[in-house]
Order: sequence, then structure tokens, then C-alpha cells
Amino acid sequence: MTLSEMRRWIDVRGLQLTKSLGQNFLHDGNQLRRIVAAADLGARDRILEIGPGLGPLTELLVDTGLPVTAVEKDARLIPILGERFAGRESLALLHRDALEWLQEKPSDWDDWKLVANLPYSVGSPILVELALAPRPPRRMVATLQWEVVQRLVAAPDTDAYGLLTVLVGLQFQSAGSFKVPKDCFFPAPDVESACITLVRRPEPLLPPALIPLYSQIVKTAFGQRRKMLRKLLRNRWTEDQLSPALAAALIPETARAETVDVEGWVHLTRALADTLGRPRNGPTDPAFGVEDRPNES
Ligand code: SAM
Repeated sequence: MTLSEMRRWIDVRGLQLTKSLGQNFLHDGNQLRRIVAAADLGARDRILEIGPGLGPLTELLVDTGLPVTAVEKDARLIPILGERFAGRESLALLHRDALEWLQEKPSDWDDWKLVANLPYSVGSPILVELALAPRPPRRMVATLQWEVVQRLVAAPDTDAYGLLTVLVGLQFQSAGSFKVPKDCFFPAPDVESACITLVRRPEPLLPPALIPLYSQIVKTAFGQRRKMLRKLLRNRWTEDQLSPALAAALIPETARAETVDVEGWVHLTRALADTLGRPRNGPTDPAFGVEDRPNES
């Protein structure tokens, strides 16, 4: 889809693009092909695209012949996409808010790859939702704000290292990123953009049953960056529960969250699960999966 085709659809339909929906459409063929190449698509893959917009990426994805599910929130774009992709039966087009759709029920994303130029306002929560799924996608290739990409690849003890790094880093590792220049979009966004490839870890660091506890621990510990993590965790767990768990995980009692790497949080999760008497490797227990519930054990 060239820039002039894009402009034609916008003009003919009288579309006023919506900034809050992150409607900066990617028209540069080289960047679009680079994004698709980063997905390393194979015959068994199913593709999830969030925010197809006018469909410049969708058309390359549909051309692979693989099943594509595209989720678009803006009702005005649905008939345009319907017209552009009429008869392309491998495309399932959903008119939904993707974040609400993802949160509705945990899906099995095992055979899926996310390939998307994400709406920047909800890019991070969408990535986290998929990244923490009990069976997450094999790969996520996402165009995001450059600053968000920096947070995804940040090392401990740096400004960019934080909650997003450790939530996504539990099940994913970066396989590289590249900048996408502003003038590749219409209209050009105010912020810099980059495309990152996140690959699912070959072996999970935690069983699915412990992912909600991991998430609860890191959300609590990163609540206030400058405070000692032990003090923050005491808002949820007792000293009797925490002390042995921190010792077992070799985390100093005075440590702050930004100094602990993903493996450290994983050790703490396993150790705290032990002190709470929770199963370390058991099947997913639904009662266990309830987030933000006071911890009762
Ligand atoms: N993929 C297209 C491209 O590369 O040109 C459009 C990308 S544009 C950055 C983001 C798209 O996401 C827009 O079409 C916007 O309407 C859509 N969008 C915004 N918020 C959304 C949400 N919560 N769920 C699904 N789509 C959303």
C-alpha cells in the first residue's frame, strides 16, 4: 500500500485520523517487509495483528497464506478493511478493543506470532497481556515507541529497567530491534519508533501456576522505585514469609527492585511460594491466578 493509496482511502472516506488511537499508518514498503521478515513465519504459524488500520501490514501477512486474525477498534476502518480484503478467507477481522478482547479469557497462544504496528497508547499493556499468558505466543514482532523498546531491553540498574522489563522478560528475550524513521508513517508521529522482535524463551523460567505470584511480587516491588523492595513487599506479605524467601533467593534485605534481574525475581517467586506453602509445579489453580487480591495463605 503506497502513501498515495493510503491518502486516497482517507480522502474518499473523509476520515479524520484519531491521535488517541495512535493512527500513524506505516506506508514504507521496506520497513513493512522488514517487520514481516522479523516474524520468521513458517507453515505452522498463526498470525495475530493488533490494529490493522488501513491494512498495509495486513496485506503482506495475508499474502503469506497463513491464517491471520486482525483486531481493530475503530469502527470506521472495518468496512474499508472488509472491502480491501474481500474474498481473502485466511483473514479473520474482529472489530474489538484488543486489550479488552485479550483480557476476556486467557487464550492458548502457543502456535501464534504477534506481528503488529501497535497503537502506542496501549502498546505496553497489550504486550504484557500476551507475554504473561500461560501459553504465550512464540514470537512478538511489535513496532512501538522507541522509548518503550529501550525499556524492554534494559539491564538492571539503568533508568529504563523496570516493571515492563521484568513482566515481559519472564517469558521473552529480545532478538533485536531496528528504528523506523518518522517519515515512514502517515502522519509522521511526534515520537521516535522502533520495531522489536521478542522470542519466547525455549524453556519457561516458571510453571504457569506461579506466573500470577511473580506478577504480584514485581508489581508490588516496583511500586516505588527508590524504596527498598522488602519494605514494599511487606505491604502484602509478612516478615515471617518474606525473610526466608529473600534469603533463599539471595536478595539482600536492603535491595531495591531496579537492582534485581529476572532470574532473581524468579528465585524469589519460587522461594515465596515455598514459604506460603503453594505448589511450585502444580497445575494452574484458578484461585491462585487472581491478581491483586490480598494474599491469604
Ligand atoms: N497497522 C497499521 C499500519 O501499520 O499502518 C495501523 C497501525 S496504527 C499505529 C494503530 C492502529 O491500532 C490504528 O488502526 C488504531 O485504530 C488501532 N487501535 C488503537 N487502539 C486499539 C485497540 N485498543 N484495539 C485494537 N486496535 C486499536
